[in-house]
Amino acid sequence: MKKLLIPAIALFLLFFFQHTVLAENGLQKITGSIYAYTDAKTASAKNSFGANAGIIIGQDYIVAVDSLMSAREAQRFIKDIRKISKKPIKFLINTHYHLDHSLGNSEFAKLGAIIIAQENDKENMEKNGAGMLEYAKKNGLSDKDLQGTKVVYPTLTFKERVTLYLGNNKVEVIYPGPSHTSGSVLVYVPQEKVLFTGDILFTNFHPFMGNADIPGWIKVLDQVMAMDVAKIIPGHGPVSGKKDVADLQAYLLVFDRQAKELTAKSQDLKVLVPEMKKALPQRAQLDALIGRNLQMKYLPQGSKPQPKGK
Ligand SMILES: [Zn+2]
Repeated sequence: MKKLLIPAIALFLLFFFQHTVLAENGLQKITGSIYAYTDAKTASAKNSFGANAGIIIGQDYIVAVDSLMSAREAQRFIKDIRKISKKPIKFLINTHYHLDHSLGNSEFAKLGAIIIAQENDKENMEKNGAGMLEYAKKNGLSDKDLQGTKVVYPTLTFKERVTLYLGNNKVEVIYPGPSHTSGSVLVYVPQEKVLFTGDILFTNFHPFMGNADIPGWIKVLDQVMAMDVAKIIPGHGPVSGKKDVADLQAYLLVFDRQAKELTAKSQDLKVLVPEMKKALPQRAQLDALIGRNLQMKYLPQGSKPQPKGK
């Protein structure tokens, strides 16, 4: 029996460890009432390019932030929410219209959630419409991955700011001006000093700049720097702080300067991308975006690139 006991314990520990690791990949507690997905280690289309999403749990209801890239991904999110709370999900905020943050909207609409977005990004989403599904396919999602996924538009829009009162807490949805997209918003929980930035902040991921207003974005990052926040949930990457905001600002400045200089000399991506890499700070994920950003923002657009992305 003793011979069997050790392997049995080892097996149990292995199971326990794996189970714990899996659990850690679910929603992480950020503060008292806030949970989020953060820091995906490998970003692919199947895991919404590592997009983060999260929830704020109020006295009577839940506010969700972003819906990931497919019905299936949103179902994973809702399942993880239900492990934490059974309260109704009354609002879903789309931090912006990009597919990896909004193609799961249908699953929240089914639960009766009101979907909130800034008015510019509702328009952006409508302009892209069903093309978002085509784009998801081109980016590596199969019909099976996209089963049940449809484009569902926000049902409540605002211009500058909307505040949700959760009884014991409040959530401010703030439009700081054009940045990553023309309608990207910040989701601020002042009482807990937590800020969801959507893709206004990428940490350790190369940012997607294809639909961006770069000078506007740099200014918006200044606004974020001035806010009273302790923890920042970026659109992609780990829980962040103000240093990460400053780092992205520096990244955007270097990218813009180098891209202008280099594309004046060459329009060949095979030449440009390695040169850009030399100048840019190291980031672990999504470096394919360097070429795409150059193509969409700095090179003459012979064949019209897809206007949707991360
Ligand atoms: Zn985005």
